[in-house]
Amino acid sequence: MVKSGADNWTPDSWKSKPVSQQIKYGDPTALAQVTEKLCQLPPLVSSSEVDTLKNRIAEAQRGERFILQGGDCAESFKDCNAEAISQKVRSLLSLSLLVSQKLRMPVSRIGRIAGQYAKPRSALTETQGDTTLTSYRGDLVNHVHFSESARTPDPARMLEGYSYASLTLNYIRSLLEGELEELFNLEPEVASLKDLAKTKELHQSLRNFRDALQLFHQFNGRQAAHKNLTEFYTSHEALHLHYEQALTRLGSNGRWYNLSTHFPWVGMRTVQSESAHLEYLRGIANPIAIKVGPTVEAKELVKLCRWLNPENEEGRLTLIQRFGHDKISHKLPELIRAVKDADLKVLWSCDPMHGNTQVSSNNYKTRDFQHIQSELQQAFSIHADLGSHLGAAHLEMTGEAVMECIGSSYAVHHQELGEAYTSLVDPRLNLSQAFELIDSLSLKKAQ
Ligand code: PEP
Ligand code: MN
Repeated sequence: MVKSGADNWTPDSWKSKPVSQQIKYGDPTALAQVTEKLCQLPPLVSSSEVDTLKNRIAEAQRGERFILQGGDCAESFKDCNAEAISQKVRSLLSLSLLVSQKLRMPVSRIGRIAGQYAKPRSALTETQGDTTLTSYRGDLVNHVHFSESARTPDPARMLEGYSYASLTLNYIRSLLEGELEELFNLEPEVASLKDLAKTKELHQSLRNFRDALQLFHQFNGRQAAHKNLTEFYTSHEALHLHYEQALTRLGSNGRWYNLSTHFPWVGMRTVQSESAHLEYLRGIANPIAIKVGPTVEAKELVKLCRWLNPENEEGRLTLIQRFGHDKISHKLPELIRAVKDADLKVLWSCDPMHGNTQVSSNNYKTRDFQHIQSELQQAFSIHADLGSHLGAAHLEMTGEAVMECIGSSYAVHHQELGEAYTSLVDPRLNLSQAFELIDSLSLKKAQ
């Protein structure tokens, strides 16, 4: 008898629940053909890697490790090239080393990468002039170009997405076999940042890194240093359930795994109790995460945690809090207390990005560095004050020299937002801003 790991759950039981952010395809036969094909293709990650990540998350829950999750808001198919992938991997690796130095603990890295191709949208349609079309829903669904044909959802894009995810992952795996000095080399990225005077500190941090790397090598041996510093996992929002279901496979232990990624999460727009997305998450054996926004009530959160993790298994459930710098202090304490009182084993992660989005006067989606910094700082402090701890951070960031978030000592102004804005959806921190964010944290120990 096959165990599903959850009562009355099958990989397609989500279909009996309300699906928000549903993608509407014109041709059900084409959709069925694509999902059948996807079911036959090999998985992208292995269940043993997924289990290892669950152990790492369990360590982070116990305060023995930190998890850094980061990358693009939306990956694009055209960025599936050596330079872009290498830049993403090297940036996340180097930032994680800074986090490790700052927090004095081992750090695991999870990219929003190799599958972050489907997007929820607050507005499901977009109007320009007299024309209203379906919003861009990520490369897995449609094309960003504003035309009827580009915006029409095409199921064949799921096969393309699978292929690009696979190529990306393959290249990541080969990169990670490389020399540490290369993997932690960010000189080209630093050189491309607009004003070098402002990146002096970044240069200094990188020099310190190289010293730290050499020491690490010397003390631990090359192999151990390499293993510790390069373990890398993938994640994406489990939004497109046809795609997720097709990559859900039965492990040799009789449990179902989503093997399109190590760490799927459900976003704020699909996290309602009884939703199709939560139904899907409930039955897979992966470590899973849900976004927790300002409208979530403590009682409801406890109920959700129990439902998604009935055995209260360590490493299973991560709560990615995303309130906004001005709301976190009102909302978070009550949720932390409720989770503590119910003795729930969860990893708390702070996403200081999504509660702080604003639209600039020149019509760019942006975020103010000070707001991001304030939310992350408050998250660490509130957890510590309540005897809980923040064990992870979730950032939208890039190694590209973009100007998408305003503020920081890199000093991006509203007027500059058009100059280097390449994100397809939400604004990301550039490297200088991401380093400054981590560097600026002031931390105290949990009581
Ligand atoms: C995201 O992570 O890109 C996202 C849409 O987040 P949220 O669901 O928290 O709004
Ligand atoms: Mn986003």
